[in-house]
Amino acid sequence: MAIAPYVPGRSTADDGRKLVKLSANENPLGTSPHARAAFDAADRSLDRYPDPGATILREAIAEKYGLDPLRVIYGTGSDDVLHLAAGAYAGPGDEVIFVHYGFAVYEIAARRVGATPLVAPDKDYATDVDAILACVTDRTRIVFLANPNNPTGTFTPRCEIARLHAALPKSVLLVIDQAYAEYIDAEDDDAGLLLAMTEPNVLITRTFSKIYGLAAERIGWGYGAAPLIEAMHRIRLPFNVTTAGQHAAVAALGDTDFVESARAHNATWRAWLADEIASMGNHGLRAVPSRANFLLVLFEGTVTAEAAYKGLMERGYIVRWLPGQGLPHGLRMTIGTEDETRGLAAALRDIVEPRN
Ligand SMILES: *Cc1c(COP(=O)(O)O)cnc(C)c1O
Repeated sequence: MAIAPYVPGRSTADDGRKLVKLSANENPLGTSPHARAAFDAADRSLDRYPDPGATILREAIAEKYGLDPLRVIYGTGSDDVLHLAAGAYAGPGDEVIFVHYGFAVYEIAARRVGATPLVAPDKDYATDVDAILACVTDRTRIVFLANPNNPTGTFTPRCEIARLHAALPKSVLLVIDQAYAEYIDAEDDDAGLLLAMTEPNVLITRTFSKIYGLAAERIGWGYGAAPLIEAMHRIRLPFNVTTAGQHAAVAALGDTDFVESARAHNATWRAWLADEIASMGNHGLRAVPSRANFLLVLFEGTVTAEAAYKGLMERGYIVRWLPGQGLPHGLRMTIGTEDETRGLAAALRDIVEPRN
């Protein structure tokens, strides 16, 4: 009962109305048409288990990134992979570290296996490597770090990731959750995958739920050293990725045009929305610099985040208010389509600068 339930992003108003959903960081451009076609063409027999080894999925991932398919772990969403890491590495008496404004699943995964969560403070909403290192004791087994981070959108650069890894004892597993990695420009890559390829104590996780637009099928994966992956396989539920989902994911990986257009769309409209928020700075609004597909907007003036959340809902937009994650003064807003983003900004302006 110490576990606070995970609160998913909502899609309806309190009265049941369907809203523009900007609360779960889904892809506003939908899914790659190639992924959709592969999903439709896949064997849809309902009476047969999927491939337990997810062979086509592992091979496509390995091919795309130059990896060993045997070192790819896969899950029902990357949430599943995060839980597998906690299950394989931590238990009662062990400590698991993550940042205060971090992804809610880390605490759930730690507590679920009986480990003790330790929360490192952030520095102006960004991950503070020194604060994480200050939490390390001889009981530490895992450090979870999302990069870019959710719900802040902040990014920890390659040199800081390298410094964190170098300072951690080899007995500590560093999990770099790269759910938003595809939104980062190639030259800014945090080199997490390279660490996972070469170091025994680094696991990276990726997902098909965000830029690939396959959230409904629940597919994630991870990469790490062979003994780590083997331990995770021992506790993995069998048949944890569906057949049609695997086919869709393989096709999605191959559709670089779709991923590129989603990345470009996101960069354009994230910058546009950040400018809009900046123009409401006189009302106490401030966007935390984001490298992901959402903005964390802080409300430090007379209009509270809660009031803005309700006002947006009345105007047809659902975003994420996160009082349970220490952010009663913040709203996380997913970058939507052009129309959705313009509409969101106009609704926000209407709330902070009422015309009557
Ligand atoms: C969305 C998200 C995930 C993954 O979700 P799945 O759908 O389970 O793959 C993982 N980590 C972070 C930080 C996220 O925001």
